[in-house]
Amino acid sequence: MSRAQARYQAIRTAQTWTERFEGGRVASPPVDQIFGSNVFGLRTMRERLPKATYTAIVSTIERGKPLAREVADIVAAAMKDWSIEQGATRFTHWFQPLTGTTAEKHDSLIVPDGQGHVLYNLSGADLIQGEPDASSFPSGGLRATFEARGYTAWDPTSPAFIVRGENSATLCIPTVFVSWTGEALDKKTPLLRSCEALNHHAQRILTLFGTSEGVSRVVTTLGCEQEYFLVDRDMYHARPDLVSCGRTVFGAKPPKGQQLEDHYFGSIPARVLAYMSEVEEELYRLGVPVKTRHNEVAPGQYEVAPLFEEANVACDHQMVLMETLRRVAPRYGFACLLHEKPFAGINGSGKHCNWSMATDTGVNLLDPRDDTHTNMQFLVFLCAVIRAVDVHADILRASIASVGNDHRLGANEAPPAIISIFLGDMLTDIINQLERGAPKRTIKGGAIDLGARTLPRIPRHSGDRNRTSPFAFTGNKFEFRAVGSSTSVSWPVTVINTIVAESLDVVATQLEKAMGKRPTEAKLLAAVGRLLKQIIKDHKRVIFNGDNYSAEWHAEAAERGLPNLATVADALPVLKLRRAVALFKKYKVLSPSELDSRLHIQLEAYIKRRQIESEEMVQIGRTMILPAALEYQRRLADTVVKTRAAGVECDADQEALESFVGLVQDFRAALSALEVANGHEDEPIKHARAIARKTFPLMEALRLATDALEGQIEHSLWPLPSYDELLSIR
Ligand code: ADP
Ligand code: MG
Repeated sequence: MSRAQARYQAIRTAQTWTERFEGGRVASPPVDQIFGSNVFGLRTMRERLPKATYTAIVSTIERGKPLAREVADIVAAAMKDWSIEQGATRFTHWFQPLTGTTAEKHDSLIVPDGQGHVLYNLSGADLIQGEPDASSFPSGGLRATFEARGYTAWDPTSPAFIVRGENSATLCIPTVFVSWTGEALDKKTPLLRSCEALNHHAQRILTLFGTSEGVSRVVTTLGCEQEYFLVDRDMYHARPDLVSCGRTVFGAKPPKGQQLEDHYFGSIPARVLAYMSEVEEELYRLGVPVKTRHNEVAPGQYEVAPLFEEANVACDHQMVLMETLRRVAPRYGFACLLHEKPFAGINGSGKHCNWSMATDTGVNLLDPRDDTHTNMQFLVFLCAVIRAVDVHADILRASIASVGNDHRLGANEAPPAIISIFLGDMLTDIINQLERGAPKRTIKGGAIDLGARTLPRIPRHSGDRNRTSPFAFTGNKFEFRAVGSSTSVSWPVTVINTIVAESLDVVATQLEKAMGKRPTEAKLLAAVGRLLKQIIKDHKRVIFNGDNYSAEWHAEAAERGLPNLATVADALPVLKLRRAVALFKKYKVLSPSELDSRLHIQLEAYIKRRQIESEEMVQIGRTMILPAALEYQRRLADTVVKTRAAGVECDADQEALESFVGLVQDFRAALSALEVANGHEDEPIKHARAIARKTFPLMEALRLATDALEGQIEHSLWPLPSYDELLSIR
């Protein structure tokens, strides 16, 4: 079968799939009956553990108390019994190596009993610690292969769960992954450390304000909105670029892209809805609280958002969610694309990370509440975040650097690579007044209290929205909008936690000093007034409420001195700065060598991914596009020759042939240029820069030349499913 025939067959099967779900209804079981049924969570533990053990594990989970070995043994026994009742035969330590995915090595829950039969067994030791052969995970130089030992250790704060597949049920125990010297080889360890740093310094602020009573922990809360594309699976397999790079490296823009904006929030196609419902059902069983789903801006693009949770659990759930989206797709004849930019000229995918801080008693510290006193505390937390984002804008930018995100950031659909904060008019007005001294006036609805009070009252949930801002305050949380759709959110959240912990530390230190031995309310008010004024003066340059997509903003940001790190190659070296190394070290989030290892792994990932992409382009270009182009050229030439032979003038055909041959020549030249471009540099930063500055523009040039051919060549000769076909059949 020719490529083109295969392509038509793929389209036909895709249409059949679509019809199968039209008019159909999927009956899902009631959520309350299935929610968390595959999770060994608090409710299950309460039912199954002796009271003292339950209390001990709760104080570990909720208050971060260390876990005694005897307790772990009892929990392990209960977990084993529960998982066996659920049909599990294997267990795995489930962890997040630096590859950005999750890893598991399955062990059997059964052991021989010595009498020809087997017993189920999972000891406390197995639960607490494992030792996968770790030599093949990237360590970025942290660990030589000959000392390949890596340990996994149970994270009791994230509940274990059972993943079911065809013929299998596996108990997954969330773990951290460290080297034998205790260095973090994963994404969870630094996240947990950063939560601890934030907790510590946030509590100092609460103590100053006298609001710490009953609070044993301040936690980070996180809610992620995941965007993704669905394309038909057969067509996906007919595109080697999608299969190996996750994105299309070629593809002419379709006549109907997203201009009509008729897809956004439109009714969800039947086949997609059936798919979403099954994804949600699986996620509910795994305790992931999925809340919203809808069509996104681009055709074939969707979004799913769970309710926010504590950051550590939310990050684990985010990995489970991406995995589930991918895993369920084939059952509905789909492939799920999580790449940041699967299609050029069509919106890419992001993952907004909604982030806040809350006490374990349930108070959101970024929620401006009704009385002045808590309002003041709110302003301190708010200004601490503003300060953090300004001081470390470059590190925050580096935290979301990835090969896929390079296509999205600044592409007029996603925030630019310049990090700024959106506050909205009302808060900005208050900030401006604070800078001048005590606020004197109010805007919007008169909710701000004046008169005797030094600080304003702020109405909750101002309705402001700004979709172009990378870091927006949305009423009671910040929304980090520049995060890429395919990334693990652990690292960006680790960075936010760390920079905010530092700011809170600075703020708390200053206020504590001002309070002296005899703190009074008046002293606190005055000190806070001075502090906020100073922070705003020093850091308000990072606040920008206008259109982040505009050219004027780029110019203005440069004037304000805000960093604009356009690509991975520009952003990642920031992690080498002395300020970055000192920051992560001081707050015990990453040692200098741990940080360095992250830089290396990410650079390497960037280099490898771009190399794969450019090799794939050359391969598809040589073996699929060129033969199709030559065949079409032959047909055009044939037409000219035969028409002339018949005694008819055909200057127009002759011209068409000449101009087509010109396109083919351009294409060949671009192909050859890319083919020889793969130079090598020993130093990874230099290599990444060379790829970004030299190789990538050649890739773009080849893409343009190829897309021009696609616009000319007879449709039935084109070897790849077109954008139209990929995006419209669903
Ligand atoms: P939008 O699309 O308007 O940004 P969504 O409702 O799709 O809003 O998503 C908002 C996300 O923010 C949800 O995941 C929600 O749970 C989360 N969220 C709400 N409050 C908080 C909070 N205090 N901390 C962290 N995330 C939050
Ligand atoms: Mg959002």
